[in-house]
Amino acid sequence: MEISDFYGRRVIVNKHETVDVANAQKLPTMKVGRRQVRCLRCNHLSDRRTAALPNGQYYCRHCIQLGRVSTLDQFYHLPEPNQFQVKRPVLTWQGQLSPLQSRVSAEVSAGMARHEHRLLWAVTGAGKTEMIFPGLAAALKRGERVGLASPRVDVCLELYPRLQKAFANTPIALLHGRNPQPYHYRQLTICTTHQLLRFYRAFDNLIVDEVDAFPYAANESLLFATEQAIKKNGGLLMMTATPGRVLMRQVRRHQLAVSYLPLRFHGQPLPQIKEELVTGWRKQLEKGRFPRPVQKQLGEWVRSGQRFLFFVPHISDLRPAREIMAKHWPGLKLRTVYAADSERLAKVQEMRKQEVQALITTTIMERGVTFPGIDLGVLGADDLVFSSSALVQIAGRVGRSAKRPTGKVVFWVDTVCRSVQEAQRQIRLMNRRGRKLKDEMSAL
Ligand SMILES: [Zn+2]
Repeated sequence: MEISDFYGRRVIVNKHETVDVANAQKLPTMKVGRRQVRCLRCNHLSDRRTAALPNGQYYCRHCIQLGRVSTLDQFYHLPEPNQFQVKRPVLTWQGQLSPLQSRVSAEVSAGMARHEHRLLWAVTGAGKTEMIFPGLAAALKRGERVGLASPRVDVCLELYPRLQKAFANTPIALLHGRNPQPYHYRQLTICTTHQLLRFYRAFDNLIVDEVDAFPYAANESLLFATEQAIKKNGGLLMMTATPGRVLMRQVRRHQLAVSYLPLRFHGQPLPQIKEELVTGWRKQLEKGRFPRPVQKQLGEWVRSGQRFLFFVPHISDLRPAREIMAKHWPGLKLRTVYAADSERLAKVQEMRKQEVQALITTTIMERGVTFPGIDLGVLGADDLVFSSSALVQIAGRVGRSAKRPTGKVVFWVDTVCRSVQEAQRQIRLMNRRGRKLKDEMSAL
Protein backbone atom coordinates (compact mmCIF):
# COMPACT_ATOMS: atom_id res chain seq x y z
CA MET A 1 0.00 0.00 0.00
CA GLU A 2 1.08 3.52 -0.72
CA ILE A 3 0.94 6.20 1.91
CA SER A 4 -1.38 8.21 -0.35
CA ASP A 5 -3.95 5.40 -0.07
CA PHE A 6 -4.68 6.69 3.43
CA TYR A 7 -5.24 10.33 2.48
CA GLY A 8 -8.85 11.22 3.18
CA ARG A 9 -9.78 7.56 3.52
CA ARG A 10 -10.67 5.10 6.23
CA VAL A 11 -8.72 1.95 5.53
CA ILE A 12 -9.71 -1.20 7.43
CA VAL A 13 -6.73 -2.79 9.23
CA ASN A 14 -6.91 -5.76 11.58
CA LYS A 15 -6.00 -4.77 15.14
CA HIS A 16 -3.32 -7.46 15.32
CA GLU A 17 -1.64 -6.22 12.19
CA THR A 18 0.57 -3.20 12.09
CA VAL A 19 0.81 -1.20 8.93
CA ASP A 20 3.77 1.09 8.81
CA VAL A 21 2.19 4.46 8.15
CA ALA A 22 3.86 7.35 9.92
CA ASN A 23 1.40 9.54 11.83
CA ALA A 24 -1.64 7.51 10.79
CA GLN A 25 -4.66 8.16 12.96
CA LYS A 26 -6.18 4.96 14.27
CA LEU A 27 -9.94 5.27 14.54
CA PRO A 28 -12.49 2.86 16.03
CA THR A 29 -14.73 0.97 13.60
CA MET A 30 -17.74 0.37 15.81
CA LYS A 31 -19.38 1.73 18.90
CA VAL A 32 -20.71 -1.04 21.11
CA GLY A 33 -23.60 0.00 23.32
CA ARG A 34 -25.58 -1.95 25.87
CA ARG A 35 -28.19 -3.20 23.41
CA GLN A 36 -27.00 -1.99 20.03
CA VAL A 37 -23.84 -1.48 18.02
CA ARG A 38 -23.24 1.38 15.63
CA CYS A 39 -21.05 1.02 12.57
CA LEU A 40 -18.83 4.08 12.34
CA ARG A 41 -18.41 3.67 8.60
CA CYS A 42 -22.05 3.65 7.49
CA ASN A 43 -23.69 4.81 10.76
CA HIS A 44 -26.03 1.83 10.78
CA LEU A 45 -27.38 0.73 14.17
CA SER A 46 -27.89 -2.96 14.65
CA ASP A 47 -29.09 -5.13 17.42
CA ARG A 48 -26.20 -6.66 19.37
CA ARG A 49 -27.49 -10.16 18.68
CA THR A 50 -27.69 -9.79 14.91
CA ALA A 51 -24.29 -8.09 14.72
CA ALA A 52 -22.49 -10.66 16.88
CA LEU A 53 -19.63 -12.81 15.65
CA PRO A 54 -19.04 -16.20 17.35
CA ASN A 55 -15.97 -14.93 19.23
CA GLY A 56 -17.79 -12.20 21.11
CA GLN A 57 -16.94 -9.59 18.51
CA TYR A 58 -19.29 -7.54 16.34
CA TYR A 59 -19.54 -6.68 12.65
CA CYS A 60 -21.71 -4.55 10.38
CA ARG A 61 -23.90 -6.41 7.93
CA HIS A 62 -25.25 -3.25 6.37
CA CYS A 63 -22.14 -2.12 4.48
CA ILE A 64 -20.56 -5.55 4.06
CA GLN A 65 -20.39 -5.31 0.27
CA LEU A 66 -17.54 -2.83 0.74
CA GLY A 67 -15.56 -5.29 2.88
CA ARG A 68 -16.43 -6.32 6.41
CA VAL A 69 -16.09 -3.83 9.22
CA SER A 70 -15.82 -5.48 12.65
CA THR A 71 -14.58 -4.81 16.15
CA LEU A 72 -11.50 -6.87 15.21
CA ASP A 73 -10.44 -3.95 12.99
CA GLN A 74 -9.55 -0.33 13.21
CA PHE A 75 -9.48 2.39 10.59
CA TYR A 76 -6.21 3.96 9.49
CA HIS A 77 -6.62 7.50 8.32
CA LEU A 78 -4.41 10.36 7.17
CA PRO A 79 -5.83 13.87 6.73
CA GLU A 80 -6.15 14.93 3.11
CA PRO A 81 -2.98 16.92 2.25
CA ASN A 82 -3.97 18.02 -1.29
CA GLN A 83 -0.72 16.82 -2.82
CA PHE A 84 -1.56 17.47 -6.41
CA GLN A 85 0.39 18.83 -9.32
CA VAL A 86 -1.97 20.90 -11.39
CA LYS A 87 -1.14 20.64 -15.06
CA ARG A 88 -2.49 23.37 -17.30
CA PRO A 89 -4.70 23.88 -19.15
CA VAL A 90 -7.06 22.27 -16.68
CA LEU A 91 -10.17 22.56 -18.82
CA THR A 92 -9.63 21.03 -22.26
CA TRP A 93 -13.31 21.09 -23.19
CA GLN A 94 -13.94 22.98 -26.42
CA GLY A 95 -17.72 23.36 -26.26
CA GLN A 96 -19.75 26.43 -25.50
CA LEU A 97 -22.49 27.15 -23.01
CA SER A 98 -25.66 28.99 -23.99
CA PRO A 99 -26.15 32.41 -22.29
CA LEU A 100 -28.63 30.77 -19.93
CA GLN A 101 -26.32 27.88 -19.09
CA SER A 102 -23.45 30.34 -18.53
CA ARG A 103 -25.50 32.25 -16.01
CA VAL A 104 -26.27 29.17 -13.93
CA SER A 105 -22.74 27.89 -14.43
CA ALA A 106 -21.30 31.09 -12.94
CA GLU A 107 -23.61 30.77 -9.94
CA VAL A 108 -22.53 27.18 -9.35
CA SER A 109 -18.90 28.11 -9.78
CA ALA A 110 -19.13 30.90 -7.20
CA GLY A 111 -20.89 28.54 -4.79
CA MET A 112 -18.13 25.97 -5.16
CA ALA A 113 -15.50 28.63 -4.52
CA ARG A 114 -17.28 29.49 -1.26
CA HIS A 115 -17.67 25.78 -0.41
CA GLU A 116 -21.43 26.13 -0.14
CA HIS A 117 -24.03 23.40 0.02
CA ARG A 118 -26.21 23.96 -3.03
CA LEU A 119 -28.88 22.29 -5.11
CA LEU A 120 -28.72 22.56 -8.89
CA TRP A 121 -32.23 21.93 -10.12
CA ALA A 122 -31.96 21.58 -13.87
CA VAL A 123 -34.68 20.08 -16.04
CA THR A 124 -33.97 16.88 -17.94
CA GLY A 125 -32.05 17.73 -21.09
CA ALA A 126 -30.65 21.02 -19.74
CA GLY A 127 -27.01 19.97 -20.23
CA LYS A 128 -26.06 20.14 -16.56
CA THR A 129 -22.81 18.20 -16.81
CA GLU A 130 -21.25 20.82 -19.10
CA MET A 131 -22.51 23.54 -16.79
CA ILE A 132 -20.38 22.29 -13.91
CA PHE A 133 -17.19 22.18 -16.00
CA PRO A 134 -16.08 25.77 -15.23
CA GLY A 135 -16.67 25.34 -11.46
CA LEU A 136 -14.87 22.03 -11.49
CA ALA A 137 -11.95 23.47 -13.42
CA ALA A 138 -11.62 26.38 -10.99
CA ALA A 139 -11.64 23.99 -8.02
CA LEU A 140 -8.94 21.84 -9.61
CA LYS A 141 -6.85 24.95 -10.30
CA ARG A 142 -7.12 25.88 -6.62
CA GLY A 143 -5.55 22.48 -5.90
CA GLU A 144 -8.71 21.09 -4.36
CA ARG A 145 -9.64 17.44 -4.21
CA VAL A 146 -12.93 16.98 -6.01
CA GLY A 147 -15.38 14.09 -6.13
CA LEU A 148 -18.23 13.44 -8.54
CA ALA A 149 -20.59 10.76 -7.28
CA SER A 150 -23.80 9.21 -8.57
CA PRO A 151 -26.06 6.52 -7.13
CA ARG A 152 -26.00 4.80 -10.50
CA VAL A 153 -23.05 2.88 -11.91
CA ASP A 154 -24.13 3.51 -15.51
CA VAL A 155 -24.06 7.27 -14.86
CA CYS A 156 -20.47 6.96 -13.53
CA LEU A 157 -19.46 4.91 -16.56
CA GLU A 158 -20.95 7.51 -18.87
CA LEU A 159 -19.35 10.45 -17.02
CA TYR A 160 -15.84 9.00 -16.91
CA PRO A 161 -14.90 9.26 -20.63
CA ARG A 162 -16.61 12.65 -20.88
CA LEU A 163 -14.58 14.02 -17.98
CA GLN A 164 -11.37 12.43 -19.24
CA LYS A 165 -11.86 14.41 -22.43
CA ALA A 166 -12.89 17.64 -20.72
CA PHE A 167 -10.03 17.46 -18.16
CA ALA A 168 -7.39 15.71 -20.23
CA ASN A 169 -4.47 16.82 -18.02
CA THR A 170 -6.03 15.69 -14.73
CA PRO A 171 -5.70 12.08 -13.60
CA ILE A 172 -9.14 10.71 -12.70
CA ALA A 173 -10.05 7.74 -10.52
CA LEU A 174 -13.17 5.72 -11.34
CA LEU A 175 -14.53 3.68 -8.42
CA HIS A 176 -17.54 1.39 -8.41
CA GLY A 177 -18.43 -2.07 -7.20
CA ARG A 178 -19.05 -3.75 -10.53
CA ASN A 179 -15.54 -3.67 -11.91
CA PRO A 180 -13.15 -3.06 -9.06
CA GLN A 181 -10.05 -1.21 -10.14
CA PRO A 182 -7.33 -0.83 -7.53
CA TYR A 183 -7.68 2.40 -5.63
CA HIS A 184 -5.43 5.28 -6.64
CA TYR A 185 -5.07 8.68 -5.07
CA ARG A 186 -6.28 11.19 -7.64
CA GLN A 187 -7.27 14.83 -7.58
CA LEU A 188 -10.56 14.02 -9.30
CA THR A 189 -12.61 10.96 -8.36
CA ILE A 190 -15.75 9.65 -10.08
CA CYS A 191 -17.54 7.07 -7.97
CA THR A 192 -20.83 5.57 -6.91
CA THR A 193 -22.34 7.03 -3.76
CA HIS A 194 -21.68 3.69 -2.02
CA GLN A 195 -17.96 4.19 -2.52
CA LEU A 196 -18.16 7.45 -0.56
CA LEU A 197 -18.35 5.30 2.58
CA ARG A 198 -14.63 4.60 2.18
CA PHE A 199 -13.72 8.30 2.22
CA TYR A 200 -13.35 10.47 5.27
CA ARG A 201 -12.98 14.25 5.10
CA ALA A 202 -11.47 13.89 1.65
CA PHE A 203 -13.19 16.31 -0.70
CA ASP A 204 -12.96 20.09 -0.79
CA ASN A 205 -15.91 19.94 -3.16
CA LEU A 206 -18.21 17.02 -3.78
CA ILE A 207 -20.80 16.89 -6.55
CA VAL A 208 -23.59 14.33 -6.33
CA ASP A 209 -25.50 13.73 -9.54
CA GLU A 210 -29.05 12.33 -9.72
CA VAL A 211 -29.65 12.72 -5.98
CA ASP A 212 -33.24 11.62 -6.49
CA ALA A 213 -32.29 8.26 -8.02
CA PHE A 214 -32.50 4.92 -6.30
CA PRO A 215 -30.86 3.92 -3.98
CA TYR A 216 -29.57 7.28 -2.82
CA ALA A 217 -32.80 9.14 -2.10
CA ALA A 218 -33.97 8.52 1.45
CA ASN A 219 -31.04 6.21 2.13
CA GLU A 220 -29.75 7.35 5.51
CA SER A 221 -26.35 5.73 5.28
CA LEU A 222 -25.63 7.16 1.83
CA LEU A 223 -26.56 10.63 3.04
CA PHE A 224 -24.25 10.02 5.98
CA ALA A 225 -21.54 8.82 3.58
CA THR A 226 -21.85 12.05 1.62
CA GLU A 227 -21.58 14.26 4.68
CA GLN A 228 -18.50 12.56 6.06
CA ALA A 229 -16.70 12.23 2.69
CA ILE A 230 -16.57 16.03 2.52
CA LYS A 231 -13.95 18.00 4.44
CA LYS A 232 -15.23 19.88 7.48
CA ASN A 233 -15.66 23.10 5.50
CA GLY A 234 -16.07 21.44 2.13
CA GLY A 235 -18.68 22.25 -0.50
CA LEU A 236 -21.51 20.04 -1.73
CA LEU A 237 -23.36 20.41 -5.00
CA MET A 238 -26.40 18.18 -5.44
CA MET A 239 -27.84 17.91 -8.93
CA THR A 240 -31.24 16.68 -9.96
CA ALA A 241 -34.11 17.24 -12.34
CA THR A 242 -36.59 16.07 -9.74
CA PRO A 243 -35.81 17.02 -6.14
CA GLY A 244 -37.70 15.01 -3.56
CA ARG A 245 -39.60 16.28 -0.56
CA VAL A 246 -36.63 16.54 1.80
CA LEU A 247 -34.59 18.73 -0.54
CA MET A 248 -37.59 20.88 -1.41
CA ARG A 249 -38.20 21.51 2.27
CA GLN A 250 -34.57 22.52 2.79
CA VAL A 251 -34.84 24.93 -0.13
CA ARG A 252 -38.08 26.44 1.18
CA ARG A 253 -36.53 26.92 4.61
CA HIS A 254 -33.47 28.53 3.03
CA GLN A 255 -31.22 25.85 4.52
CA LEU A 256 -29.91 25.06 1.07
CA ALA A 257 -28.93 27.44 -1.71
CA VAL A 258 -30.51 26.63 -5.05
CA SER A 259 -29.83 27.31 -8.72
CA TYR A 260 -32.55 26.70 -11.28
CA LEU A 261 -32.20 25.86 -14.92
CA PRO A 262 -35.81 25.56 -16.03
CA LEU A 263 -35.18 25.44 -19.78
CA ARG A 264 -33.62 22.74 -21.88
CA PHE A 265 -30.44 23.34 -23.85
CA HIS A 266 -32.56 24.30 -26.89
CA GLY A 267 -34.44 26.87 -24.81
CA GLN A 268 -37.84 25.16 -25.00
CA PRO A 269 -40.05 24.19 -22.05
CA LEU A 270 -40.77 20.61 -20.95
CA PRO A 271 -43.69 18.82 -22.59
CA GLN A 272 -46.65 18.69 -20.21
CA ILE A 273 -48.22 15.36 -19.24
CA LYS A 274 -51.67 14.54 -20.58
CA GLU A 275 -53.56 12.28 -18.18
CA GLU A 276 -56.31 9.89 -19.30
CA LEU A 277 -58.45 7.63 -17.14
CA VAL A 278 -58.56 3.94 -18.18
CA THR A 279 -60.15 2.18 -15.23
CA GLY A 280 -59.61 -1.58 -15.16
CA TRP A 281 -57.01 -1.57 -17.93
CA ARG A 282 -55.21 -4.70 -16.76
CA LYS A 283 -58.40 -6.78 -16.98
CA GLN A 284 -58.75 -5.63 -20.57
CA LEU A 285 -55.11 -6.44 -21.25
CA GLU A 286 -55.76 -9.96 -19.98
CA LYS A 287 -58.66 -10.21 -22.43
CA GLY A 288 -56.32 -9.27 -25.26
CA ARG A 289 -57.23 -5.63 -25.83
CA PHE A 290 -56.22 -2.11 -24.87
CA PRO A 291 -58.68 0.39 -23.37
CA ARG A 292 -60.14 2.57 -26.13
CA PRO A 293 -58.06 5.76 -25.50
CA VAL A 294 -54.85 3.70 -25.55
CA GLN A 295 -55.85 1.88 -28.72
CA LYS A 296 -56.71 5.19 -30.41
CA GLN A 297 -53.43 6.89 -29.48
CA LEU A 298 -51.25 3.94 -30.44
CA GLY A 299 -53.08 3.67 -33.76
CA GLU A 300 -52.28 7.31 -34.50
CA TRP A 301 -48.61 6.81 -33.76
CA VAL A 302 -48.34 3.59 -35.75
CA ARG A 303 -50.13 4.99 -38.83
CA SER A 304 -48.15 8.24 -38.91
CA GLY A 305 -44.83 6.45 -38.44
CA GLN A 306 -44.21 8.34 -35.19
CA ARG A 307 -41.65 6.52 -33.03
CA PHE A 308 -42.70 5.99 -29.43
CA LEU A 309 -41.92 4.45 -26.05
CA PHE A 310 -44.66 2.55 -24.27
CA PHE A 311 -44.07 2.14 -20.52
CA VAL A 312 -45.78 -0.54 -18.43
CA PRO A 313 -45.40 -1.01 -14.64
CA HIS A 314 -44.25 -4.64 -14.53
CA ILE A 315 -42.28 -7.14 -16.57
CA SER A 316 -45.38 -9.35 -16.67
CA ASP A 317 -47.24 -6.59 -18.56
CA LEU A 318 -44.70 -6.59 -21.40
CA ARG A 319 -45.85 -9.75 -23.17
CA PRO A 320 -49.60 -9.06 -23.30
CA ALA A 321 -48.92 -5.49 -24.47
CA ARG A 322 -46.64 -6.75 -27.24
CA GLU A 323 -49.11 -9.42 -28.34
CA ILE A 324 -51.97 -6.94 -28.63
CA MET A 325 -49.84 -4.52 -30.65
CA ALA A 326 -48.59 -7.31 -32.90
CA LYS A 327 -52.16 -8.48 -33.49
CA HIS A 328 -53.46 -5.03 -34.43
CA TRP A 329 -50.47 -3.78 -36.40
CA PRO A 330 -48.61 -6.79 -37.82
CA GLY A 331 -46.17 -4.58 -39.71
CA LEU A 332 -45.10 -2.58 -36.64
CA LYS A 333 -41.45 -3.07 -35.76
CA LEU A 334 -41.26 -3.20 -32.00
CA ARG A 335 -39.18 -4.61 -29.15
CA THR A 336 -39.75 -5.18 -25.45
CA VAL A 337 -37.00 -4.34 -22.97
CA TYR A 338 -36.52 -4.63 -19.20
CA ALA A 339 -33.72 -4.34 -16.66
CA ALA A 340 -32.33 -7.88 -16.71
CA ASP A 341 -32.80 -8.24 -20.49
CA SER A 342 -29.51 -9.57 -21.85
CA GLU A 343 -30.18 -7.88 -25.20
CA ARG A 344 -31.07 -4.55 -23.62
CA LEU A 345 -28.18 -2.57 -25.13
CA ALA A 346 -28.72 -4.02 -28.62
CA LYS A 347 -32.43 -3.18 -28.52
CA VAL A 348 -31.74 0.37 -27.33
CA GLN A 349 -29.29 0.68 -30.20
CA GLU A 350 -31.95 -0.46 -32.71
CA MET A 351 -34.33 2.18 -31.39
CA ARG A 352 -31.60 4.80 -31.61
CA LYS A 353 -30.79 3.90 -35.20
CA GLN A 354 -34.52 4.10 -35.99
CA GLU A 355 -34.62 0.45 -37.05
CA VAL A 356 -37.64 -0.11 -34.82
CA GLN A 357 -40.62 2.18 -34.34
CA ALA A 358 -41.48 1.35 -30.76
CA LEU A 359 -40.09 0.05 -27.48
CA ILE A 360 -42.33 -1.44 -24.83
CA THR A 361 -40.46 -1.01 -21.59
CA THR A 362 -40.48 -0.95 -17.80
CA THR A 363 -39.16 1.89 -15.68
CA ILE A 364 -35.57 0.97 -16.66
CA MET A 365 -35.78 3.49 -19.53
CA GLU A 366 -36.77 6.31 -17.16
CA ARG A 367 -33.47 8.14 -17.39
CA GLY A 368 -30.10 8.19 -19.08
CA VAL A 369 -31.36 7.37 -22.58
CA THR A 370 -32.10 9.80 -25.35
CA PHE A 371 -34.06 8.98 -28.50
CA PRO A 372 -34.55 12.14 -30.54
CA GLY A 373 -38.04 12.90 -31.80
CA ILE A 374 -40.08 10.38 -29.84
CA ASP A 375 -43.52 10.47 -28.20
CA LEU A 376 -44.44 8.30 -25.26
CA GLY A 377 -47.23 6.76 -23.24
CA VAL A 378 -47.26 5.23 -19.77
CA LEU A 379 -49.91 2.62 -19.10
CA GLY A 380 -50.66 2.39 -15.36
CA ALA A 381 -48.75 5.57 -14.49
CA ASP A 382 -50.48 5.48 -11.10
CA ASP A 383 -48.77 2.19 -10.20
CA LEU A 384 -46.52 2.43 -7.14
CA VAL A 385 -43.41 1.53 -9.16
CA PHE A 386 -43.56 5.01 -10.71
CA SER A 387 -42.59 7.68 -8.17
CA SER A 388 -43.34 11.28 -9.08
CA SER A 389 -39.65 11.85 -9.82
CA ALA A 390 -39.59 8.77 -12.08
CA LEU A 391 -42.64 10.17 -13.90
CA VAL A 392 -40.95 13.55 -14.45
CA GLN A 393 -37.87 11.72 -15.73
CA ILE A 394 -39.99 9.61 -18.08
CA ALA A 395 -41.82 12.66 -19.44
CA GLY A 396 -38.39 14.20 -19.93
CA ARG A 397 -37.51 11.60 -22.59
CA VAL A 398 -39.64 13.65 -25.01
CA GLY A 399 -38.64 16.82 -26.85
CA ARG A 400 -34.90 16.45 -26.39
CA SER A 401 -33.75 17.38 -29.87
CA ALA A 402 -33.44 20.89 -31.19
CA LYS A 403 -35.12 19.69 -34.40
CA ARG A 404 -38.21 18.51 -32.56
CA PRO A 405 -38.19 20.18 -29.13
CA THR A 406 -41.80 19.17 -28.40
CA GLY A 407 -43.78 15.95 -28.38
CA LYS A 408 -46.63 14.07 -26.81
CA VAL A 409 -46.62 12.53 -23.32
CA VAL A 410 -49.74 10.57 -22.30
CA PHE A 411 -50.21 8.90 -18.91
CA TRP A 412 -53.03 6.36 -18.67
CA VAL A 413 -54.19 5.74 -15.08
CA ASP A 414 -56.58 3.48 -13.25
CA THR A 415 -57.42 6.19 -10.76
CA VAL A 416 -56.38 9.78 -10.26
CA CYS A 417 -53.31 9.76 -8.03
CA ARG A 418 -50.92 12.06 -6.26
CA SER A 419 -47.68 11.04 -7.95
CA VAL A 420 -49.00 11.99 -11.40
CA GLN A 421 -50.37 15.27 -10.06
CA GLU A 422 -47.05 16.01 -8.37
CA ALA A 423 -45.19 15.30 -11.62
CA GLN A 424 -47.51 17.64 -13.53
CA ARG A 425 -47.07 20.28 -10.84
CA GLN A 426 -43.25 20.09 -11.02
CA ILE A 427 -43.33 20.43 -14.81
CA ARG A 428 -45.73 23.40 -14.61
CA LEU A 429 -43.50 25.05 -12.02
CA MET A 430 -40.35 24.66 -14.10
CA ASN A 431 -42.10 25.87 -17.26
CA ARG A 432 -43.40 28.93 -15.43
CA ARG A 433 -39.89 29.67 -14.21
CA GLY A 434 -38.61 29.06 -17.72
CA ARG A 435 -41.01 31.59 -19.24
CA LYS A 436 -40.06 34.18 -16.65
CA LEU A 437 -36.38 33.61 -17.26
CA LYS A 438 -36.81 33.93 -21.02
CA ASP A 439 -38.58 37.26 -20.50
CA GLU A 440 -35.76 38.45 -18.23
CA MET A 441 -33.10 37.39 -20.70
CA SER A 442 -34.82 39.06 -23.64
CA ALA A 443 -35.15 42.27 -21.61
CA LEU A 444 -31.37 42.42 -21.16
ZN1 LIG B 1 -21.55 -0.42 8.27
